[in-house]
Amino acid sequence: MGPKGSLPRVDIEAMLNDEKSAENFNVGVSEVKDLTWKQRLDYDSCIRCGRCQDNCPAYQNKHPLSPKKLINDLKDFSWKEFAQAKANKGNGAEADQANAEPKLIVGSAFPAETIWECRTCRACMEVCPARIDHIPQIMELRRAEVMMRGQLPQDAAIALKTMEKTGNPFGPQEARSTWIKEQQIPVVGPGEECEALFWIGCCTTYDVCKQKIAYNVLKILISAGVKVAVLGDDENCCADPARVLGDENIFQMLVKKQLELIKTRKFKYLVAHCAHCYNVFKNEYPQFGADFPVKHHTEVILDLIKEGRLKLEVPVEKTITYHDPCYLGRYNGIYDQPREILKSIKGIKLVEMKHNREKGICCGAGGGHYWMDIPNGERLNVTRVKEAQDTGAQVVAVGCVYCLHMIDDAIKILNLDEKMMVQDVSELVVEAMGGLAESSEQCALEGIAAA
Ligand code: SF4
Ligand code: SF4
Repeated sequence: MGPKGSLPRVDIEAMLNDEKSAENFNVGVSEVKDLTWKQRLDYDSCIRCGRCQDNCPAYQNKHPLSPKKLINDLKDFSWKEFAQAKANKGNGAEADQANAEPKLIVGSAFPAETIWECRTCRACMEVCPARIDHIPQIMELRRAEVMMRGQLPQDAAIALKTMEKTGNPFGPQEARSTWIKEQQIPVVGPGEECEALFWIGCCTTYDVCKQKIAYNVLKILISAGVKVAVLGDDENCCADPARVLGDENIFQMLVKKQLELIKTRKFKYLVAHCAHCYNVFKNEYPQFGADFPVKHHTEVILDLIKEGRLKLEVPVEKTITYHDPCYLGRYNGIYDQPREILKSIKGIKLVEMKHNREKGICCGAGGGHYWMDIPNGERLNVTRVKEAQDTGAQVVAVGCVYCLHMIDDAIKILNLDEKMMVQDVSELVVEAMGGLAESSEQCALEGIAAA
C-alpha cells in the first residue's frame, strides 16, 4: 500500500510497448473479473454501520452517492456475477443465455453518475472501521470508464483534451511565460540552482485574481532570505486533474515530462501552495522516480516564523475561521501549521467551524469537480460557507487555491460579499509583515526580482 494520497499505478507505457499486453490492454475495473482480492475483501468487510455516508458531503447534500450503498451494491453485483458465471460454466441447461456475457459494473450495479459525484474528499475512509478503500474503488471504475470506453462528463472531457493539447487544463503555455516575464518572477534555468523551487500551479497562473497568492508567497520567502525561483516556461500542469478524472495516459505522460524538466534543476525542496499540487508531488510523483522533498507553503512559513526570519508585527484585527483543504488535512495531516501561523499574528481571533480538522467538509472542488458542474442538491461550497457564517468570522482562511475559488464563489452566491471574504494564509502573513498584501491583478512584483 502506498501513502494515503497516492492511487495505485498502472504501467501504461509497458502495456503499450509489449505486444501481448497491448492486445489485452485493460485499465481500471470494468467487470467483476477485474477486481482485486482487496477490493472483494472490502465488500465482505462492510458492517453497514453507515459512518461513511453520515460523513459523505455528497450524500449529506442529497447528491446521488452513498459510499455505503456503493460498497454494498458492488458486493451484491459481484456475487450475482460469480453465481451466473458458475452456472454458465457448470450445467449448460441452467445457463441463462441472456446473462451469459459478463456485465459492465458501471451502469449495471449503479448508474454512472454515482462514480462522478465523488469529491475524493476522504471523509468516508477516515471514519470507516473496516478500513475500506472507497476512493481507490471509485477511481478504478472511473479509469475504466475513461480509458476503455471514453465515458465521462462532457466538461471533464474538455478539460482533459485541453491538458493533452496545451499541457494544462486552463490555457496556452505562452500566457504563463509572458506573465512570469512581465512580473520579473525569478526563474531557475536548467543546470542552475536555488534553495526553494516554487511551484506556482496552473489555477494561480491563469487567473489574475489568484496570481496574488504567488506574489504573496514570493514576498514572504524573499523577505525571509530564502533563495526562491520558479521553473518559468518549464512549469506545466502537475497532472493531478488527469489522475482524478481517470485518464492515466495523460497523467503519466505529463508527470514523466514534468519530472524530466524538474530534474535539470538543483534545489533543496519544492514548495507548493495548492493542496492538490502539493499532494501529487509528495505522494504520486515518487511512483515515477521523484526523490525531492516537497513542502506546503504553510509548513515553510511556519518554520520561518519559528526561526525568527519573519517579523509579524502589524496587528491584523480580524475574526478568522480556517477551512481545512481535504488534500492538505485528511490526505497529509496538515492541520496545525496553518492554525499556528494564524495564532502567531497579533489581533487575529481564530474561531472554528462545526466541522473542522479531520471532520472538515470538502469545498466541492475535489475529485475533478472544479471542471464539472453536476447540479444536484445544495452545492458543497455553499454548505461550507453557511457553516463559516455561523462562526461570525469575517474571513475564511484557506491553504489551497481551489478552496479559495470555491469559497469565494459561495460567498457571492449567498450575497455575503459585504460581510465575509476568503484569503489565503499567505495574504494574512503579508498583512502582518506590514506589507500591502497583493490583492489584485495590478500588483506587480516590483523589487522582488531584485531582492
Ligand atoms: S463506514 Fe465502512 S463499514 Fe461502515 S457502512 Fe461505510 S463502508 Fe461499511
Ligand atoms: S470520498 Fe468524499 S465524496 Fe467520495 S464517497 Fe467518500 S465521503 Fe463521499
